[in-house]
Amino acid sequence: MLLNSRVAIMRFGRSTSRAVRKSSSFRPEPQAADSLIQIGTRKIYDDSHDQFRSTARNFFDSNCRPFHEKWEEAGEVPRNLWKEAGETGLLGVTMPEQFGGMDADILYSSVLWQEQAYSFCTGPGFALHSEIVMPYINNYGSEEQKQEWLPRMIAGDAIGCIAMTEPGAGSDLAGMRTSAKEDGDDYIINGSKVFITNGWMSDVCIVCAKTDPNAGAKGISLFLVDTKTPGFRKGQKLKKMGMKAQDTAELFFDDMRVPKSALLGELNKGFIALMEELPQERLYIADNGMAAAETCYETTRAYVKERKAFGGPLTDMKTIRYKLACMKTDICVARTFIDHCLALHVDKQLDSQTASMAKAMASDLQNVVAGDCVQLHGGWGYMWEYDVCRAYVDGKAQPIYGGTNEIMMELVARTI
Ligand SMILES: Cc1cc2nc3c(=O)[nH]c(=O)nc-3n(C[C@H](O)[C@H](O)[C@H](O)COP(=O)(O)OP(=O)(O)OC[C@H]3O[C@@H](n4cnc5c(N)ncnc54)[C@H](O)[C@@H]3O)c2cc1C
Repeated sequence: MLLNSRVAIMRFGRSTSRAVRKSSSFRPEPQAADSLIQIGTRKIYDDSHDQFRSTARNFFDSNCRPFHEKWEEAGEVPRNLWKEAGETGLLGVTMPEQFGGMDADILYSSVLWQEQAYSFCTGPGFALHSEIVMPYINNYGSEEQKQEWLPRMIAGDAIGCIAMTEPGAGSDLAGMRTSAKEDGDDYIINGSKVFITNGWMSDVCIVCAKTDPNAGAKGISLFLVDTKTPGFRKGQKLKKMGMKAQDTAELFFDDMRVPKSALLGELNKGFIALMEELPQERLYIADNGMAAAETCYETTRAYVKERKAFGGPLTDMKTIRYKLACMKTDICVARTFIDHCLALHVDKQLDSQTASMAKAMASDLQNVVAGDCVQLHGGWGYMWEYDVCRAYVDGKAQPIYGGTNEIMMELVARTI
């Protein structure tokens, strides 16, 4: 159910007449007959997921949304937010209970990243931390590595990142140049990484490096590195088009010495681990994109019902109604597929090509919907204070990271 704008103004402290026009974010309620999220056959969640949804929603509404604009200016979210998220039980929910997790299924994670998208708060890099970095540690880490990092990450005391991309190698990861050379009981790592989400704030980093420079993808290994290790240097916090509250950094490794016990998984098997973990990352991007499209649509639906032109609401115009009907159709059809992918993943049946289809389709749709929603807001849609404006630029990264959508189509094409 949509918040009415007066409640939103009270909540977010807006007082200008412009703010009255600012629509609030989409909040699907299980029983709302006209709620977009109820269209189709969305049966993947049970009551306990719904209860968790209300905790997550409350967190993003109260702890994030009122402060997000400040964080955009700072280019990062405050550290205490991570601690609050940990205390609320929102980090690492799929991790084993022995480390402080909930041993929950991935649907709980999906509730979290959907609610974050519904709130338009793209700043906190929680999903990358919980659903991308932590699974590597849990699936490939030694007992010592798990004990050292997982409890702290779940509590929000340590922030994780993963460093694959380099200035000269993104899509073609086999071309990475960061090297890890054996030296007695250690490895010495040299190189640099770029575009690393959470990189600036990170306490622990999965560094991808070449341990056999002549073996292409078969010469890549992963290392779990404390970012306080001498030789680990954080470069600039990069200025981005969107997702301005999320820190994205350059990282440098200058003769960084790590013990052999820092290897994450087997020597020279890093690329295989990346390929095994990427479907979950792509599913996250897909579902997050769907949620962003849904919230943009609902926000815009409320706006055009309220906005008057030519003697009536914009929804009196056939062209506007047609545009919304097309958007609604695309979103509902796509949502059905994404929910199907979520269900497949719960059963550990989501394969690489299906995850690639989902990632490319949903992130492209998210961008089309966000663009159309800006257009339907007219000039207000171009103003930063409007959610759809930020959603438009924030969404632009989605077809790029996690493997570009061109690469996704290449992966699908290989199966034809
Ligand atoms: C906001 C943001 C956050 C990110 N976070 C992280 C992170 O946390 N960790 C991390 O390691 N990386 C991260 N990345 C990096 C991201 O994964 C890469 O940017 C992405 O993989 C693309 O690599 P590239 O930038 O080198 O582009 P390139 O590989 O140079 O691609 C340029 C263009 O060529 C196309 N292209 C390349 N190869 C092919 C091909 N074979 N067939 C068809 N087209 C092709 C691409 O699709 C693209 O359109 C992030 C990026 C952004 C923007």
